[in-house]
Amino acid sequence: MTRLRLEAEASRAAIAAALLDLALFAAARAKAQREREMDAAWQALHEATTPIREKRRLWLIEMRALQDERCAYCGCRFEEGTPQRATVDHVVALSRGGPDTRDNCVAACQRCNELKRDMDAELFRRWRSWLSGETREPPARFTR
Ligand SMILES: [Zn+2]
Repeated sequence: MTRLRLEAEASRAAIAAALLDLALFAAARAKAQREREMDAAWQALHEATTPIREKRRLWLIEMRALQDERCAYCGCRFEEGTPQRATVDHVVALSRGGPDTRDNCVAACQRCNELKRDMDAELFRRWRSWLSGETREPPARFTR
């Protein structure tokens, strides 16, 4: 083989290797894209087929951990089988058009949840703070 021919062979081999790299990269990217699409499809299927009670149960587990096992309103530590047991509270009550979504929920003790009823969360915080003597000024409105 001539030197020129050897160089041409080496170039072809380098080009083939580069094309193979490119093909492998494209395949890996397509696979990652398919996996993302599958994840999204599973997520959508879960959303569509999971009963709301089950969703709330899962939200509560997540919220309890995020809130360090404490009530979003009074800060008490959750205790099962007592009025301090953990419940799902809708920040904007369902009866007031609040959505039944994770974003609209916090973990609250049963006592706060029952006291709050459909009250606005911020108003409830002020009302609760006044009732417990933390603030002296009563909230402007007690309800609604
Ligand atoms: Zn509470």
